[in-house]
Formats: sequence, structure tokens, C-alpha cells
Amino acid sequence: MIKMAEVDLKTKYGTFHEVLFYDGQKEAIAFYMGDISEGEDVLCRVHSSCIHAHIFNSVECECREEMAIAQQLIQKEGCGIVIWLEQEGKGNGHYALLKSIPFKRAGMPQAEAYEAAGFQKDARDFSAAAKILKALNIKSITMLTNNQKKVNTLTQHGITISGTKSLEL
Ligand SMILES: [Zn+2]
Repeated sequence: MIKMAEVDLKTKYGTFHEVLFYDGQKEAIAFYMGDISEGEDVLCRVHSSCIHAHIFNSVECECREEMAIAQQLIQKEGCGIVIWLEQEGKGNGHYALLKSIPFKRAGMPQAEAYEAAGFQKDARDFSAAAKILKALNIKSITMLTNNQKKVNTLTQHGITISGTKSLEL
């Protein structure tokens, strides 16, 4: 993980510090508030890209609301981090997302819809998030998630997770 550039950014939910990382293939972003270095139980949201929600204001998924809630919880705490990973369509890509939509509209959960469209249920890779947390010297995190898979994956990559907190204000 190479640190490429960093900048402060004013948001609706306070000023965050953005650090752009590059792992040789993909960019990933650490977006944080407060003194996180050597931090314990740091609030942490690992968030994947979603063109429909974040660019087109889709109301068919919760990605946009989840990001807003994560930022508000971090602002309230005065400290915390969002890690943004470029893995559209649960890591399958935007094409796969579009192909999954008819199955989803027919009533399938998103993971099954990807499979029905010929893709992996979940092709996401959270190792970049683990590398970023290590690069920033964060000792342990409280994950903002309801997804046990993310918790397990980060634990397997050597991250200490002290707990989880659901995305509710
Ligand atoms: Zn989404």
C-alpha cells in the first residue's frame, strides 16, 4: 500500500481527512476524523463503491444512507474512519450488477441474484482495508456493519476487532 496523496475535505458531517492509497492495481481511500494513530476501538466503516447510490441517487439500495450514517456516527464520536474500496457490484463489477437486477426484481436477495446472472455471490476482497488499517497504525476497531463476513475477513487479515455497531443513528 503506497500513500499517494492526502487532503482535508469539508462534508455535511464535518471535516474529514482523506488519504489515497494505491496497491499496484487499485486505489483505496482512508477517510477519517480525529486522532486515529495508535487508536483502540476506532469506529470503522468499510464501504464499497456503488455507482447507482452514490452517483445516481438510487433508492433501490441502502449504500448512500449507510455512508451518511457512518459519517454521522464518526462525527458524533469525533473520531473514526471510513475505508472506501473500489469493488462495484460486490466485487463483480458494474456489468454484473446490471445483469443481476432482473433477478433481484424477481425477488431474489442480491447475492443469489449475482449467482443467477452467472457471477460470484460475493467477490469482494477486504485485504486492502486490512493493509490500510495497519498502515495507519490503528490498534483495534469497532466495525460499523451488520455483515459478519467483513468481520471474519478482517480478523483473518490480522485486524483486531473489539466489537461491531450497527448503522443506526
Ligand atoms: Zn448500492
